[in-house]
Amino acid sequence: MDQLISSISKKEDIRTRFAPSPTGFLQLGNLRTALFAYLFAKNNNGIFVLRIEDTDKERSTTEYEKAILETLKWVGLLWDEGPEVEGAYGPYRQSEKLDVYEKYLKQLLNENKAFYCFCSENELETYRQYQLSQGQSTAYSGKCRNISLSEAEKRIKEGEKAIIRFKNMVIEPVIFDDMIRGKTEFDPQLIGDFSIARGLRSPLFNFCNVIDDFDMKITHVVRGEDHVSNTPSQIMLQKALGFSSLKYAHLPMILAPDHSKLSKRHGAVPVLEYRDKGYLPEALINFLVLLGWHPEDDREIFTIKNLVKEFSLDRVQKSGAVFDQQRLDWLNGFYIRNLAIENLTKKCLPFLIEGNLIKIVEESIPLQLIPAVTEESWQEQKYEIIETKEIVDFSYLAKIISLYQQRLKKLSEIVDLTDFFFKELSSLSVELLRWKQMSNEEIKESLKKLKEILEKIKPEDWQKQNLENILMPEAEKMGDRGKLLWPLRVSLSGKEFSASPFDLADVLGKEKTIKRIKEALKIL
Ligand code: GLU
Repeated sequence: MDQLISSISKKEDIRTRFAPSPTGFLQLGNLRTALFAYLFAKNNNGIFVLRIEDTDKERSTTEYEKAILETLKWVGLLWDEGPEVEGAYGPYRQSEKLDVYEKYLKQLLNENKAFYCFCSENELETYRQYQLSQGQSTAYSGKCRNISLSEAEKRIKEGEKAIIRFKNMVIEPVIFDDMIRGKTEFDPQLIGDFSIARGLRSPLFNFCNVIDDFDMKITHVVRGEDHVSNTPSQIMLQKALGFSSLKYAHLPMILAPDHSKLSKRHGAVPVLEYRDKGYLPEALINFLVLLGWHPEDDREIFTIKNLVKEFSLDRVQKSGAVFDQQRLDWLNGFYIRNLAIENLTKKCLPFLIEGNLIKIVEESIPLQLIPAVTEESWQEQKYEIIETKEIVDFSYLAKIISLYQQRLKKLSEIVDLTDFFFKELSSLSVELLRWKQMSNEEIKESLKKLKEILEKIKPEDWQKQNLENILMPEAEKMGDRGKLLWPLRVSLSGKEFSASPFDLADVLGKEKTIKRIKEALKIL
């Protein structure tokens, strides 16, 4: 039976691809495209290919390519074929395939399905303006389409410049059944003789994309809706080249909350910036999948494993998906709360180091915010608090971080939330120490009382529960607990919001706690 199933799935091997251009960093929208293509492939036991579309030589860089691979690895969207992974249909980088494209360009030229166009930029632009003024489509005029190949080659030899255009002889509407948008139709006449190369050695995006999908045996193209308008040209090229047709799924755009185009303010930022701010890959994936896809019920939490089981393109919506930063933050907080404290600590330490609060005593460890480097050895290291030069261990830091696990929305917040454990307070003010209408005198009294009580506690009894047992009744006696506990908490943290005063005193230890109360008394 098993054999039967595997032979059925073999027969219709699904192959998708993600085809970024390395002309910038991957943004959330690009990553969502990759995710949907990946999930569709994996849900169908298929193959997920990564292809680098670097034909735009001026704008493509190897740095961007590296960053793209790093982003995909970070979120766990690992490709089955592509750069760094051997595959049967490479090369997977367009810049390495110029010979292949040249061969197909020549084929189209020889078969009179493409032609050299000698029109100058100026000429084309003037004609375009004329068409616009007449309310016509801006398709190419057709001026050069009847220049014979031998004549064109002669002119090029003599130094004239020419591009290559597809000779569009299609009359019937180009129709395809988009897996998300349904039947989609284009009038080929409005597209006209579109350009496919600047020359035999410089093919353009639309052309290479078609060749590669064929060469790499892609069966399904899952990509953003911004590529819908390229699809009819690509289908016409496939037909002209004798390639078999593909299935398309164009994903709805991601919109800003006001339904405008996503801007830098709302999510149109590199994914790696989210990593560097302390978003967890699991949270990002969960967030992205819900931008356009919905499960059958109202569940909101999905791991990539569940998604591979459940994802289907049928449940992808047609309309734009609205980016909701609060939802992302909520999800990130959710995943942070669910981490084991050791894991959370390992993930937070790079931020504390980057924030110059602590450093590793062994200087040999590379300090990068990359989980792969941080995982293993963190627990064994000793850490130096930079300002005080004290040496602490992992468990001490874990204790501090655990106080904030419930309220962290992103890992980077750990620096501002916990800096006072590592540094002298710099911004203590009487106003901050004041609970409700307390007078300065009353604050002073509270702090003095605290000092007296705390000084009497033996160092071995200095634990959270003991401190609470001793201080709570005193606070109750004052009629309003805040009168004792607020000035205590603020004198220890210098902050309006922090963990409980008992937690703070416990972690800071007796000596530092009393020292900070004395410091607070000084400003009164
Ligand atoms: N290289 C194109 C882009 O980065 C993708 C084209 C496609 O997926 O067909 O937008």
